[in-house]
Amino acid sequence: MTVTLITGANRGIGFETARQLLALGHTVYIGARDAERGEKAAAELGARFVQLDVTDDASVGQALETIGRTEGALDVLINNAGVMATGVPDGPSALRSFDTNAVGIVRVTEAALPWLRRSANPMVVNITSSMGSFWAATTPERPEFHITSGPLYAASKSAATMLTVQYAKAHPGIKFNALEPGYTATDMTAEMEGGRPVEESAAVVVRMATLDVDGPTGTYSDENGVLPW
Ligand code: NAP
Repeated sequence: MTVTLITGANRGIGFETARQLLALGHTVYIGARDAERGEKAAAELGARFVQLDVTDDASVGQALETIGRTEGALDVLINNAGVMATGVPDGPSALRSFDTNAVGIVRVTEAALPWLRRSANPMVVNITSSMGSFWAATTPERPEFHITSGPLYAASKSAATMLTVQYAKAHPGIKFNALEPGYTATDMTAEMEGGRPVEESAAVVVRMATLDVDGPTGTYSDENGVLPW
């Protein structure tokens, strides 16, 4: 049985990814910072729930301890929780963006490492964004070039992608890959136009979360393949 933890899975891409991985037979833990929202989501899907706020060391430590002690190992970690700050950047909004989108990955990954090491095919998928690609942000033909409303989001996702590279090099026995899931209609993008159905983007996440043991590590990609950094 493959044991999978998805952070921020009570709604959006994380929730749908949980649904699709459950259908593939994974034991899925929905990590959610709010117990009521998380329990409701888990009950709806037939998943398990752990309280997990990626900005809170104690909450993260306890969540991974609960999963590890219950299951004996963690096979797949999907660092999906994220926030997008809009408006004029300031200190508090910058701290919140980086705390959730980048430092959160460090907290959860570090707490998960002992349990990932007990898996026969451990992998971590970091849901970053093409908004954090220096190439996309400096290429006028790319939509990311023209989006200037989320500098903190973009910069914190660049950090998340770099963390993926560094973790992949530091832990060759565990696959770490950064993924742009695709522009999706969720609460995060509700004030923007368009966005595809969550099912399509979750399928991209599922593909990266179900790699063979000899699958790639240290990559940055979207559904079309490698994304330039
Ligand atoms: P969403 O619908 O806004 O969902 C975000 C999820 O993250 C929610 O479950 C939220 O929980 C959770 N979260 C936020 N802060 C948290 C914290 N401190 N601890 C634990 N959970 C926390 O967004 P989404 O579109 O599904 O985004 C999922 C991921 O995909 C994010 O990392 C996002 O940056 C990335 N992404 C999205 C798009 C897109 O087009 N939507 C594109 C590229 C990348 P609450 O309900 O408690 O707030």
